[in-house]
Amino acid sequence: MTAAERRKTVNVRVGNVLVGGAHPVVVQSMTNTDTADAEGTARQVAALWRAGSEIVRITVNNDEAARAVPAIREALDRRGVDVPLVGDFHYNGHLLLTKYPEAAAALDKFRINPGNVGAKRHDENFRTIIERALEHDKPVRIGVNWGSLDQALLTELMDENARRPDATKRDAQEVMHEAMIESALRSARFAEEIGLGHDRIILSAKVSGVQDLIAVYRRLAALCDYPLHLGLTEAGMGTKGVVASSAALGVLLQQGIGDTIRISLTPKPGGDRTEEVHVAQQILQSMELRSFTPQVTSCPGCGRTTSTYFQKLAEDIEGYLRDQMPVWRERHPGVEEMKVAVMGCVVNGPGESKHANLGISLPGTFEEPKAPVYVDGEHHSTLRGDHIAEEFQRILDEYVESHYPSQAVPAGTA
Ligand code: SF4
Repeated sequence: MTAAERRKTVNVRVGNVLVGGAHPVVVQSMTNTDTADAEGTARQVAALWRAGSEIVRITVNNDEAARAVPAIREALDRRGVDVPLVGDFHYNGHLLLTKYPEAAAALDKFRINPGNVGAKRHDENFRTIIERALEHDKPVRIGVNWGSLDQALLTELMDENARRPDATKRDAQEVMHEAMIESALRSARFAEEIGLGHDRIILSAKVSGVQDLIAVYRRLAALCDYPLHLGLTEAGMGTKGVVASSAALGVLLQQGIGDTIRISLTPKPGGDRTEEVHVAQQILQSMELRSFTPQVTSCPGCGRTTSTYFQKLAEDIEGYLRDQMPVWRERHPGVEEMKVAVMGCVVNGPGESKHANLGISLPGTFEEPKAPVYVDGEHHSTLRGDHIAEEFQRILDEYVESHYPSQAVPAGTA
């Protein structure tokens, strides 16, 4: 799907990144450090950026966190990390953004949860945050979350539903969906009434159920032209989180809905936070919406190949490609489109190899110990012996050099 087939939206500038239908879907992530720890937070932001996160959100939940924001920005600038920083505000955003103008200035966008800006003084607090956004010329994301839905609005819509004739009454889930959408749209309208530009607003309406998310976003997308931030909230751990996020976002992205995505995975204790970035990239690349890194196609293996040699080779090649990408991205533009196939035997191996830029079929059990290599669909060579992996890697390097012409890398970046 091209950008032209994506839903038409206004385009919102977030720091140096443009978010909207005319631009590629943006990958973003969020830190899980204590923001008050400026150095630790800057380190994680830099790691997320290096992994490919194009926008990073940090929580700004108290005075210490707000005080640390300018130091985080400075630490990132010193490292040459120009990623836009988003401040996530709940309950006290109006106070923190007013009390710490340096923090407001250092951020590239404010995230407001309209369910968490205060009940009694909701409108007043919301207005203050928008005024700070205007003062510092920042866009906002109005991020509704079903776990913290505006209760006054939900009650209003429930009461309205109760007064309907039985035939037109909606179930509680439908009312909840409507409340989320209404919360986002009313807040956006209010922000514009206060003076914020139409092209300074991004919306999200996150839920944790796949079908709920699809229903809410399809409706929201039809009702406005604000760019949409997609993500399944509290997606969960490991396989469950990856699969649920991919299923939900896959459906929406295929319909042209979604301008920036975040995958809310729960990391294992001490786990790598950058996993959520890799998953987001993989979703976009699998759907052929963007290319980030060369793709390795490998067969699942079966009884025809009982050794683990081909699994090891597939893993090594994937690791090699990932390790090379920081330099190749600069030096060999277009290399991220490359496809490599590593197959376990000759049943599907040569066929799959021919569809890749480079492919190798390793010998299956009882097959002759040789590994045919294909380059751009043509038989290139047949590798034998103990150094198949090294020789294949050499062919891979030569392919990259010859097909993605070398460009000089600025000093100090390699
Ligand atoms: S390519 Fe060969 S080893 Fe791999 S799954 Fe197919 S039959 Fe099995």
